[in-house]
Amino acid sequence: RAKDTAAGRACFFEPGMDLQMRERRSLARDLRLALAQGEFELYYQPQSRLTDNLTIGYEALIRWHHPTRGLIPPAEFIPIAEETGLIVQIGEWVLRQACATAASWAEPYRIAVNLSPVQFSHGALPETVHAILVETGLSPKRLELEVTESLLISDPDTALHILRRLKGLGVSIAMDDFGTGYSSLSTLQSFPFDKIKIDRSFLDKLGKHRKAASIIRAVLALGRSLEIPVLAEGIETKAHLDFLRQEGCDEAQGYFLGRPMPVGMMFPQAAAGVA
Ligand code: C2E
Ligand code: MG
Ligand code: MG
Ligand code: MG
Repeated sequence: RAKDTAAGRACFFEPGMDLQMRERRSLARDLRLALAQGEFELYYQPQSRLTDNLTIGYEALIRWHHPTRGLIPPAEFIPIAEETGLIVQIGEWVLRQACATAASWAEPYRIAVNLSPVQFSHGALPETVHAILVETGLSPKRLELEVTESLLISDPDTALHILRRLKGLGVSIAMDDFGTGYSSLSTLQSFPFDKIKIDRSFLDKLGKHRKAASIIRAVLALGRSLEIPVLAEGIETKAHLDFLRQEGCDEAQGYFLGRPMPVGMMFPQAAAGVA
């Protein structure tokens, strides 16, 4: 009987599993062509300083315009790009594109670029970053590289070594999605990060769970005592903004302040002036 049940279950689940695997394989195949076919685009989301509300930088966020499936968000294809190793080439494209775009802006905004842990274990990341800075003419002071604490889990010594070499180029390093992983605090101890980005899940819970405010306050206090500026992600309401400003948070990013947008929609006044 047990055998029958197992077989029945296998029959019930297998077609779905198979479909999911075929789906992934087909996306992986399309991903291989996407760079050459120019299907990627970077969107830019503003980051504001809370003392005076000024936009001081933008985070580059990748989008994939799939020829038949339409717009695919990074959460759906970055993991596949990481498994296949394609993230190394894609990540290099992102860096080059983001730096070149930022170098073309009239104002010296900072540009933040996300890095995958896979980019730290394949290829020569510091050399690549250096070459792209030289090629695009972007000052290293304007480039901020965002990493997550997962980077420091599998091979922390190598990762720390590469982070130090990156910092040696004059670029800054931000810890993204702070508070969601396993080792946020020990990670802060092992490397002099230039910024902490509080994950947006904490802002999302603000006003819904009483403890969310306490956790955000604790992260802000941690940033102050370590002398690391803190940026809060996922500002969706004026209440979020008021709370963060009152608590002395340095910077913020979120839909309430500005959505990620294609480069052509970023500076409407400047574009109008040119036309
Ligand atoms: P992330 O680096 O934490 O980026 C912030 C994500 O939160 C973005 O999602 C952004 O659109 C979204 N977001 C911003 N403000 C709000 C808000 O107020 N409310 C809500 N609900 N969401 C908000 P996106 O663009 O879908 O990117 C998701 C993740 O994909 C990123 O998280 C990052 O981990 C990864 N990613 C994006 N671009 C790249 C890239 O070029 N390279 C790599 N390696 N990863 C990337
Ligand atoms: Mg990020
Ligand atoms: Mg984040
Ligand atoms: Mg993330």
